[in-house]
Amino acid sequence: MAQIIDGKAIAKGIRARIKDETAELKKCDVTPGLAVVLVGDDPASRVYVTMKEKACAEAGIFSDEHKLPAETSEEQLLELVAQLNADERIDGILVQLPLPGHIDESKVLEAISPKKDVDGFHPYNVGRLATGNPLFKPCTPYGVMKMLEHAGVNLTGADVVVVGRSNIVGKPVALMCLAQHATVTICHSRTRDLAQRVRAADVVIAAVGRPEMIKGEWIKPGATVIDVGINRVGEKKLVGDVEFAAASEKAAAITPVPGGVGPMTIAMLLQNTLESAKRRASGCGCG
Ligand code: NDP
Repeated sequence: MAQIIDGKAIAKGIRARIKDETAELKKCDVTPGLAVVLVGDDPASRVYVTMKEKACAEAGIFSDEHKLPAETSEEQLLELVAQLNADERIDGILVQLPLPGHIDESKVLEAISPKKDVDGFHPYNVGRLATGNPLFKPCTPYGVMKMLEHAGVNLTGADVVVVGRSNIVGKPVALMCLAQHATVTICHSRTRDLAQRVRAADVVIAAVGRPEMIKGEWIKPGATVIDVGINRVGEKKLVGDVEFAAASEKAAAITPVPGGVGPMTIAMLLQNTLESAKRRASGCGCG
């Protein structure tokens, strides 16, 4: 049976370390600050925002919440982003996606100062990641890399198959594996014979959003499986993109859903906010 890579436990350890480092930084009169902007009342977004605020409070990070009505105009939102860019207490700005249809998401994301772009979605930060000199790493892929590190996976020369090519998970995680000298294959909906690709992988990273579409029998014996997918089936049950039970029979290590990559994303958001605050502190000759 595979070793379970326990995202909940790893994230807990990371959050405890962030709390200690935040306390140290406060001795230099720098409190890390994260602005969280929510437009409208999408229930899932509300839950995420509440979780982020709670995590900030636990870590001693100042969280500046902006809950705006769904009819907020693009201009008003851009004005708020400009204010937050200029606010010295704020090290990170997170605009919760999706935004209501009348607002151009990319325009808003590009308005965030790249130095406060803790989600790592600004084209400047995407470019820095692609050129191997990241300022902020996007939180979910960053969490995936931490899990691989905790599982003791050496990526040098390893064959990594990433299933999914989204801008928030698939592409950035592929770039991060490449930076660690893996041989990376990115698969997507037009890939021919996905099973064959997965069968050849030392590491499989699934970010598709289709319940259990990656079959256990495809997994190479001894492979590591990171399942980013979160799929609701039925009323309450959550499953990943990988057939967990069958894959566990073959893999050396695997992440569960829930309790795998999910908890890591918020931990890495706090990590990015802390890193940004440290840069501010060093700019003041401290830290
Ligand atoms: P997207 O829908 O943006 O991307 C899905 C990708 O999967 C696309 O590249 C798509 O290909 C590919 N795909 C779809 N069907 C197939 C198929 N049959 N075979 C191969 N590839 C396929 O999703 P996200 O990247 O945003 O999210 C992926 C999953 O991860 C979701 O379940 C989401 O909930 C979860 N997630 C979890 C997070 C966490 O914190 N743990 C954070 C973010 C996401 P194509 O490009 O060709 O359409």
